[in-house]
Amino acid sequence: MHGLMQNRQLLVSSMVRYAQQYHSDVDVVTAIGADASIRTNYGQVIARAGQLANSLAKQGIKQGDCIGTLAWNNHRHLELYYAVPSMGAVLNTINPRLHSDQIRYIVNHAHDKYLFVDLDFLPLVEKVHVDIAQIKGIVVLCSEQQMPDIHWCDAICYESLIAQESADFDWPEFDEDTAASLCYTSGTTGDPKGVLYSHRSLVLHSIATCMKDCMNIGAEDVIMPIVPMFHVNAWGIPYSAAIAGSKLVLPGSDMSGKNVYRLLNEEHCTLTLGVPTIWQLLVDYAATLPLNETSRLPIREFVIGGSAASEQLITSLESLFDATVLHVWGMTETSPMGTVSRPSPKHRRLSKEELLAIKLKQGKPPFGVEAKIVDDDGIELPWNGDTCGQLLVRGPWVAKAYYRKEDMRVLSDDGFFNTGDISTISADGWMNIVDRAKDVIKSGGEWISSIDLENVAAAHPDISQAAVIGIHHPKWQERPLLVCVASEGANPNKNDVLSFMKDKIAKWWLPNDVVFVDELPYNATGKIHKKNLRESFNDYRFP
Ligand code: ADP
Repeated sequence: MHGLMQNRQLLVSSMVRYAQQYHSDVDVVTAIGADASIRTNYGQVIARAGQLANSLAKQGIKQGDCIGTLAWNNHRHLELYYAVPSMGAVLNTINPRLHSDQIRYIVNHAHDKYLFVDLDFLPLVEKVHVDIAQIKGIVVLCSEQQMPDIHWCDAICYESLIAQESADFDWPEFDEDTAASLCYTSGTTGDPKGVLYSHRSLVLHSIATCMKDCMNIGAEDVIMPIVPMFHVNAWGIPYSAAIAGSKLVLPGSDMSGKNVYRLLNEEHCTLTLGVPTIWQLLVDYAATLPLNETSRLPIREFVIGGSAASEQLITSLESLFDATVLHVWGMTETSPMGTVSRPSPKHRRLSKEELLAIKLKQGKPPFGVEAKIVDDDGIELPWNGDTCGQLLVRGPWVAKAYYRKEDMRVLSDDGFFNTGDISTISADGWMNIVDRAKDVIKSGGEWISSIDLENVAAAHPDISQAAVIGIHHPKWQERPLLVCVASEGANPNKNDVLSFMKDKIAKWWLPNDVVFVDELPYNATGKIHKKNLRESFNDYRFP
């Protein structure tokens, strides 16, 4: 017997319509450079999304067509977020930090019909435009006055494109499993792989993100996603903020500590999200200001994900800003929210140190995501907080295949996605990432977590960044090498660093050597590029 409830489809347009109806007057602010902002609101953004949809429809864009973007977090990008999926087309957000070969690959693989590009990224498009011939047009996200002289293609100005259009667009109804947006993984090995989100997955993910024990998003919030809109939908914030009615602050292109601080302060942000590297920049800047200045900001929560949050980063942010750090884990294939480390009431009686240990873990999945760990044969492993295994997840916002690679098997027989991460899960379900399967160090048949070693090393006051890689060892197969960047003005030495680490980790985990470098390689999503780092230490041998 079927239930007798309405079967309304979960569509991006339903979130857009809701925001238009109830949150029209809520601010959307875009930072322009280091000292100016464009102030608008959901009503205006959605009206302009209607104009954009009308003009795209006139250009012949229909359901299923892909529209590519190379853009920062700004109001025009937000208009694309609302218009393109709502009209039934697919928004393909492209990471401009990728290599031009990968960008070329993505535009062609997605069959993008139009490319919407911020001024900053025009040189990138110029590099690849002859190889992306199927593109019908390149639209520059700027005003008529800002429109540059482009000799290599007939580019269209965004503001001219939408200027004459009506703001009314009758968003169509269709099946909620229809594709809505497409985001490619950074592809450190092989070509980037496309994760194709559906309307249903985006809506469910948005609702779940708002839940109190997830990001606890509501109308009182002022949210600044530093995490880019060109990677995993800025963790879904453009949609969850819209349905919650939170003021949205989009930082534009300047993500320096100084500008992020300015925006947190001037816009009274309460919640902000980003990867550890961004927060380190903020901590370094905030450390130059008087403590009473930083702690009076209304920020209540820093959400950290994308890479492991270190003890030093969590404690610095919390003490400087009198705020809480929320450590989250996810990946492009999980939309991305997979787990959230929000302490439960039972953790209230813990000491500060014990609570920190909880926050260093990646936490438990929200309702909607199921997780388990398995061994190499796919046999489920116990949840005891000690046993490490491959982390598998399942749920309505987890990918079941890659776009136009549907034959590639990515799910287990029971429908779980293999994340490529190694983790433990405690008896009460708290997940702790030990490492990426490809980064874990195998010493004498046992695993050493590079993440744990990096966290301990980064807590040394004279070290600003740390990375640990496995180096071939004749006896142990692999041993850890610590590669680090010294804090500004500091001159740490190897023995001092090793003795600092000694009593904080198992004896046999201690790195065999420490090397200081001027900088570490980072990938397009702001994570340490372990593959490149390993390659640059190819010829290294332990002393
Ligand atoms: P990519 O395009 O590089 O795959 P993703 O953002 O999808 O980019 O990367 C997902 C991976 O990032 C995860 O599989 C995990 O290894 C790592 N990751 C994400 N969040 C965390 C975290 N909080 N702690 C440790 N690792 C994390």
